[in-house]
Amino acid sequence: MRTPLVAANWKMNLGTAPEALEFIRTIRRGLQAVENVEIVLCPPSTVLAAVADLLHATRLGVGAQNMHWEDKGAFTGEVSAAMLASFCRYVILGHSERRATRSETESDAAVNRKVKAALAHGLAPIVCVGEDLAQNEAGETESVVGSQVTGAFAGLEGPQVAGCTVAYEPIWAIGTGKAASPAEANRTVNLAVRGPLARAYGEATAQQVRILYGGSVNAANIASFVMMPDLDGALVGGASLTLDFVKLVEAVAAARGGG
Ligand code: PEP
Repeated sequence: MRTPLVAANWKMNLGTAPEALEFIRTIRRGLQAVENVEIVLCPPSTVLAAVADLLHATRLGVGAQNMHWEDKGAFTGEVSAAMLASFCRYVILGHSERRATRSETESDAAVNRKVKAALAHGLAPIVCVGEDLAQNEAGETESVVGSQVTGAFAGLEGPQVAGCTVAYEPIWAIGTGKAASPAEANRTVNLAVRGPLARAYGEATAQQVRILYGGSVNAANIASFVMMPDLDGALVGGASLTLDFVKLVEAVAAARGGG
């Protein structure tokens, strides 16, 4: 049985220490009371250290929103897995908001290099995949998502893959208030994520990989996603910036029998 995971992607919000720490203080008690759900906050890199410090020795984890695949060097503005490893347990990789504008550093091959670098430094990757509206309407969802998954994990061993998380985020559902249908999302991840992983690494490994849904989830609709057999939680954008985030996590616990 996979432990549900809820990861909060703050994006470029709450990026100063006073606002980030104040927000966490308001939600921390509620989040810590929820059992059997792993919770990860992914703030902007400016406050990663402060957030990690505040959450040290709590059951709330910290993740970064991106990293470079090299350990160090002439890469202005980048941070590496080696630098993040002392603050973070997780790192989001290949988010569609990055893939859309940075073809060189966010291609499938680049995401694959980042996954390898993250794992080499003990970080757990959350690999984002998902189709855009045109691809969805053209019936290309499975092939697009399947090739993103295959590309991200190319050259890895089964035990490495088992420690990764995949976030299926249809691009048309992100930040639009128009979530995918839970049944359709489950069907997609079964066919285009767990299926290819099972063929490449065996069923036992594929069953260990947690798969999140992302795209306009909130406290009211999250239960219908995590009740699906192949969905193990959510990557949450907008709803992670409000007090409703506690209700959202509580709903995950209740839906999975842990609340
Ligand atoms: C995201 O950007 O990963 C996301 C899921 O955003 P939202 O929840 O706001 O749709």
